[in-house]
Order: sequence, then structure tokens, then C-alpha cells
Amino acid sequence: MKHNFSAGPAILPQEVFRQAAEAAVNFNNSGLSILEISHRSKDFVAVAEEAEQLVREIGGFGDEWAVLFLSGGASTQFFMAPMNFLKDGEKAAYLDTGAWSSKAVKEAKKFGEIEVVASSKDKNYSYIPKGFDIPADAAYLHTTSNNTIYGTQIKDFPNTDIPMICDMSSDMFSRPIDVNKYVMIYAGAQKNIGPAGVTLVIVKKDWLERAGRDMPTMLNYKTHVDKESMFNTPPVFPIYVLMLTLRWLKGQGGLKGIQQHNEAKAKMLYDELDRNTCFTGTAAKEDRSLMNACFLPTKEEYTEPFLKACQENGISGIKGHRSVGGFRASIYNAMQMESIETLVRVMQEFEKEHA
Ligand SMILES: *Cc1c(COP(=O)(O)O)cnc(C)c1O
Repeated sequence: MKHNFSAGPAILPQEVFRQAAEAAVNFNNSGLSILEISHRSKDFVAVAEEAEQLVREIGGFGDEWAVLFLSGGASTQFFMAPMNFLKDGEKAAYLDTGAWSSKAVKEAKKFGEIEVVASSKDKNYSYIPKGFDIPADAAYLHTTSNNTIYGTQIKDFPNTDIPMICDMSSDMFSRPIDVNKYVMIYAGAQKNIGPAGVTLVIVKKDWLERAGRDMPTMLNYKTHVDKESMFNTPPVFPIYVLMLTLRWLKGQGGLKGIQQHNEAKAKMLYDELDRNTCFTGTAAKEDRSLMNACFLPTKEEYTEPFLKACQENGISGIKGHRSVGGFRASIYNAMQMESIETLVRVMQEFEKEHA
């Protein structure tokens, strides 16, 4: 058995892989592949509708929200959000908690004045800044809920009346969401809710009226809302796999159920990290991510033999991002406890042999 700790594209439930493989050959017993039918066919429209329904049901998004399935990745949302929602002369506030946040800042600067309200760059993004001021005249506050590269996660979102836009790419649907805090949430699917190729965008319908700028049709959210994500050919197969993943998630007890599972997995791994003398966690304890656990070897010479021990035990994708080094265990929704147990056992055996 393989234990896939990849940060993204990442693990999905095995049953989802099997169902997706079947649909690629024979979709709904039609004798046709899902890859060769019209996105406007009855069978695919039913998939898109179920996907949207599951997003609404699982996340608690009512009729005041539009649910979109777009392409271009979360990286496209970095510029599309300010392009649509930052009017000429307006200012937006951004919280800088990592590489993805700073990319969002860089793109937003092309559309208005951006105030970075706080940054944890001073300590290589190892913590979440707290207690900062948000300018009262900001059109919105942009945050990144989980910092995939650095293994930090926002536990308490700022208490503010300023509408929030959140990049939830790497912890989307891993825990309950207080939807009232946001006007827009977006997530590239490939970290936690599906395969690469589709980006989930959930936006308050009344906010769409803000889009005053003259912009290309494809980049206007209103285009996709009016055409229910079918203005052009949507990423049909990624949407199908996302729908299967959300069906699975619903079966896990939705966000409350998956949160319990995720907390138990993270606890087991972090407890071992805190105990084991060969490794040390890089993120501030109170900000540790339930999705990505980043850790360093306490001696540089442990790196290669540990990677080798992982490989021998079927553990893959554990190498840390180049900007942090060491190791990163991504433990998204679909990761089973058994894989965490395997990693913990390998860490313990490693300590016995090397420390
Ligand atoms: C991976 C990631 C992105 C980039 O997503 P793409 O879909 O590759 O554009 C953005 N934000 C966060 C938090 C991520 O983890």
C-alpha cells in the first residue's frame, strides 16, 4: 500500500479513483466515456448540478451565494478577484501569511491600492500574525486560510465588519466554515476537493454588482454566474471527480465529521513530532496546520536516510518545499489514519536507529 503525503495534486479517496476510471470508459452505462460527451448533455448537466448542490449542502451556502466551477487555478483568482471587486480609487487589505498570499498581493496591486495589514515574512512565515488593524475604508480583506508551504493555518479569523475574501485552496471543506464572514471563497480543487483543472469559486451574488470595470468577458464573474459555469466548455472531468469527492465527503459526516477525523490525524502526527528527538516542527504550535505538517531533521545528516526509510515503507511526497526544506506531510481529508500510523512508526524506528 502507498501512503501519499503529496502537497498537491494530492490524495483523493480510492473509491473516487475507481469511479472516475469507470466513467472514463463507460459513463452511466451509456457506452460512452464522460470525456466524449457534450457538456450540455443531460447526463453532464446532472453532474454539474449535483456538484453545485453538494457544495451548497456541505458548506452551508444558501441562495445568496453563486457557486462557480472555473479554470485557471487559484492563481487566476489572485487577479480576477481584485479586477472584479476593487473599484477605481479603492483600497483593499491583505494579510500576508506566505508565498501564495504574497502572490495574491502582487496581482491585486495592478488594480488598486493594496495595504498589507500584517506579514509573518520576518520569520519565514512560521506563524499567523494576530492583533493587527484593518483600515476601515478597505473594500475587502484578503486572507489565506491555510499556508500549504509553511504548514500554518488560521484558526481564528479576524473579527471585522470588512468583507472577507479567502483563498481556501489547501483546507477547503476540511472543517466547518463560518460563511457569514465572507463575500467570496475560492479554492483550486487539487489540494483537498478534487483533481487539478477546476477551481471552486463561491461568491455573494450582491457583490457581483461591484464589478464596474470594463474587462474581458471570460474574466467577469457575472458571465459565469449568468451562464451557470457553462459560458464556455467547463473542465468536465475535474468537475465530475470533484462531485464524486464531495459525495464521499458527505458520507464522512460532512465538515463536522471530517474535522474530527482531521484533528485526530494531526494530533497523532504532531504528538510524535514533539516527542521524537530526530525531528522538529517548523510552525508555531498554536498556528499548526491540520493539513500540512512541516518539520526539519534535528541533524542535517538525517535527511537522506529518512527519505530512504520513507520510500522503503511506501511513503511518498514527504519532501519539504524548497523554501522551507526538510519534510512536509500533507494529510488532507482523504488520508487515512493508517497512513499516519505508518509515518509515525517509521519516525520511531528512525529515532531508535539513528539518535
Ligand atoms: C496551491 C495553492 C495555490 C495555487 O493554486 P493553483 O490552482 O495552482 O493556481 C494558491 N493558494 C494556495 C493556498 C495553494 O495551496
